[in-house]
Amino acid sequence: MVHPEIEKRKTFAIISHPDAGKTTLTEKFLLFGGAINTAGTVKRNKANQSSTSDFMEIEKQRGISVATSVMGFEYNGKRINILDTPGHKDFAEDTYRTLSAVDSVILVVDSVKGVEEQTQKLMDVCRMRNTPVIIFVNKLDREGKDTFDLLDELENNLNISVCPLSWPIGQGHNFKGVYNIFDKQLNLFKPDKSKITEPVIQVNDLEDPLLSKFLQPKELKTLQDDLELVDGVYGKLDNDLYLEGLLAPVFFGSAINNFGIRELLDTFVSIAPSPKSREANERMVMANEKNFTGFVFKIHANLDPNHRDRIAFLRICSGKFERNKFYYHTRLNKKLKFSNPVDFMANEKSLVEEAWPGDVVGLYDSGNFKIGDTLTEGEELQFKGIPSFSPEIFKEVENRDPLKSKQLEKGLQQLTEEGVAQLFVQQPGNRKIIGTVGELQYEVIVFRLQHEYGAKCAFRPLTFRKSSWLTSKDKKNINEIIQRRHHHIATDKDGNPVFLADNDWTLNLAKRDFPNVEFHSTSEFN
Ligand code: GDP
Repeated sequence: MVHPEIEKRKTFAIISHPDAGKTTLTEKFLLFGGAINTAGTVKRNKANQSSTSDFMEIEKQRGISVATSVMGFEYNGKRINILDTPGHKDFAEDTYRTLSAVDSVILVVDSVKGVEEQTQKLMDVCRMRNTPVIIFVNKLDREGKDTFDLLDELENNLNISVCPLSWPIGQGHNFKGVYNIFDKQLNLFKPDKSKITEPVIQVNDLEDPLLSKFLQPKELKTLQDDLELVDGVYGKLDNDLYLEGLLAPVFFGSAINNFGIRELLDTFVSIAPSPKSREANERMVMANEKNFTGFVFKIHANLDPNHRDRIAFLRICSGKFERNKFYYHTRLNKKLKFSNPVDFMANEKSLVEEAWPGDVVGLYDSGNFKIGDTLTEGEELQFKGIPSFSPEIFKEVENRDPLKSKQLEKGLQQLTEEGVAQLFVQQPGNRKIIGTVGELQYEVIVFRLQHEYGAKCAFRPLTFRKSSWLTSKDKKNINEIIQRRHHHIATDKDGNPVFLADNDWTLNLAKRDFPNVEFHSTSEFN
């Protein structure tokens, strides 16, 4: 028997390529859930502006009102937790880590642009963990791609089977609405940004004469033909395949016009998984175990210099989390208790007395936590699933104020613990290399080192483009590659050896020359 508090929780993230409509959809969900009353409440945490100061301003606001990182609300008797992910691609690592803390995702795709680069990368991460995915094709009020072509594109580029649960009638200026295949309903489209209901016409089947009252004969014929084909090609939704992450139900709509949202939300609530089990190095941990366990997937620095504390975001995996109870920090081998844990409902954060699997609580932290840390009631356990991915840009740190070396060291360590970037060290000389997925992070690091730690640094570009984590059955092989390729070798934050390659060619050459060494593209490989 699963505890009802666990059963009612649905913890997920909405992901998309920037501008596909993630923020709009999040906001509409909160409106439907009654968590907010007006549009415009959800902050667009985007930094598409090129200036760092703009970005820092946004981060500052976010740092202070961390509430937007998790948005919880009740809907149809369920507790929904939406985990926010940054839109800017330079912060993709943060998104990847957040994906380790959810039980499913909704992927938003722009009907005009189709599958974009960022969509593909995010899906790759979902595939690594078999996270169940529902796809929402947005912006049907615009002239987009042909629906069948779009479904093909989703299948081919995202490497997942799809199953449409609704079907659009026309698009752009001629967008009439969608036919809900499962419920046999015609939902008529009326552009309206303020209302949250849409006219729904219930029919018996596609031959129902009622349909011809609302659709032109040509529209009806196209719909009937399309759906005959859909039935033949895609069939019915297989729930098990969805839960295994192999099949994605697809919905169509227009987030800005509140169209298709209720349908999406209702289906999500009925089919999305509640917390189940999670893999630790030692064993599988089931959500309904009695003892509490959880892990930190995100650390949010408070950029306000008057409040230097950080908030560690803890995903609860099993048992019940309680305020003021001692928990065991497995990495530090230390007991900690939390007197002010917070939880997040819509845009407010409030003190939490207890929390359940699927919930995310914010723990005020003065430096105890690193991303990936596990808390238990005493058991030695380390949750898996927060890998580091290879950065794409590597730069060497140059200390610009020798009197502040200590501050620089501390700042770099803390910022990399927060997951802002990855730190590698190269010998001889303890050269510090910072790896990121975007230029913006270097500016953020320079700014934060100066403002929070009083340290000055600059970055010298390196030619490396890729890191691979090295393992071998025999340590001798690792020592050999370290000796013979020392220009390319560094250690990561945990002291593991890493091969830094300029391009695929150098990487392949090294693989050929050291056949007994395994090269891994993420830091998690067991
Ligand atoms: P995000 O970057 O994925 O969070 O995207 P946003 O939610 O900020 O949306 C990006 C832009 O697309 C904004 O200007 C929205 O107003 C617009 N948008 C969102 N949904 C729709 C839609 O259904 N139709 C149209 N035409 N525009 C939309």
